[in-house]
Amino acid sequence: MRAVVFREHSPRLDVYDVVDDRPVPVPGPDEVLLRVHYAALNRLDDWVRKGWRGLNLELPHIPGSDFAGEIAALGADVSGWEVGQRVTGNPTLFCGRCRYCLQGNQHLCEQFAVVGEHVHGACAEYMVLPARNLIAVPQGVDLKLVAAGNLVTLTAWRNLIVDGGLRPGERVLVVGAGGGVNIAAMQLAKLTGATVWVIASNAKKAQMALDLGADWALDRSQEPQWAKAVWLHSQRKGVDVVVDNVGAATWGQSLRALGPHGRLLTVGGTSGYGAQIPVNLIFGRQQRIIGSTMGNMEDAHQAFKLIFSGKLTPVIDSIYPLEGYVAALQRMLANQQFGKLVIDVRPNA
Ligand code: ZN
Repeated sequence: MRAVVFREHSPRLDVYDVVDDRPVPVPGPDEVLLRVHYAALNRLDDWVRKGWRGLNLELPHIPGSDFAGEIAALGADVSGWEVGQRVTGNPTLFCGRCRYCLQGNQHLCEQFAVVGEHVHGACAEYMVLPARNLIAVPQGVDLKLVAAGNLVTLTAWRNLIVDGGLRPGERVLVVGAGGGVNIAAMQLAKLTGATVWVIASNAKKAQMALDLGADWALDRSQEPQWAKAVWLHSQRKGVDVVVDNVGAATWGQSLRALGPHGRLLTVGGTSGYGAQIPVNLIFGRQQRIIGSTMGNMEDAHQAFKLIFSGKLTPVIDSIYPLEGYVAALQRMLANQQFGKLVIDVRPNA
């Protein structure tokens, strides 16, 4: 089968190949074989290729955590699903048996793993997935929107709505405008009835955030000390929630923009993990820092329900064939995108 692979861990992008001789994976007893129609990129893909201590992948590795397609074959013990059925699924892999899984907290599973991170991913004609992760896609729903919304809507739902406890009327500041999780967070915040403010890297992205429904957007290239601008714009009250997945470069400003009892929410740190935290703000303003990663099956069902019903339409920046994978990755790493970079995996794409 055709697939994108990287041959070895590297900071460079020349370790990727598009191959056509990968064996089609064989589903285990409780797995299904999926014919992938669409995959999509995440920041995670860049981290995985670079690698880290303790990540032991079978190389060459197939990337990709977002997927939508159809069932091509069923494992021996799988029931309730049919070949040809249009599906997506939770990319959070879990054992289904540990104490966390039995509580419904599959995202805390003792054997937690992620499609495309710890096992082969979706940038291939076929992939395997445990049947317990599957979610049926209703007729009429565009599979490329499903793939585009997969990991990011799940992640943002868990972080902002479940763990972050966002409530109507609250003021949310999203740091960064173009990435998939941040866009999903803006959309979920608006659906919740919150007021959404955005810090964008340039004027164009600030305008795109406003077009998407943000109530206020600041171009940080014109206002590097944006925390002060947020503070003044809030009549010196600060915001209730900051969504900050940038990390080291921005946490200091994010905490200063946050008002009393505010929450800083995070699902990642694209600029680095060694953030300086003004401890006086944490106790003085009684702030909280809340992190999460991925989400459980309930989160996945809630997130996909919004996409299937059309209440939330994932934003697609552009669509590439498998051969365009590296070009798509370069666009993401240069922060040029607004929305998701989708890969059309189908043979004639
Ligand atoms: Zn488990």
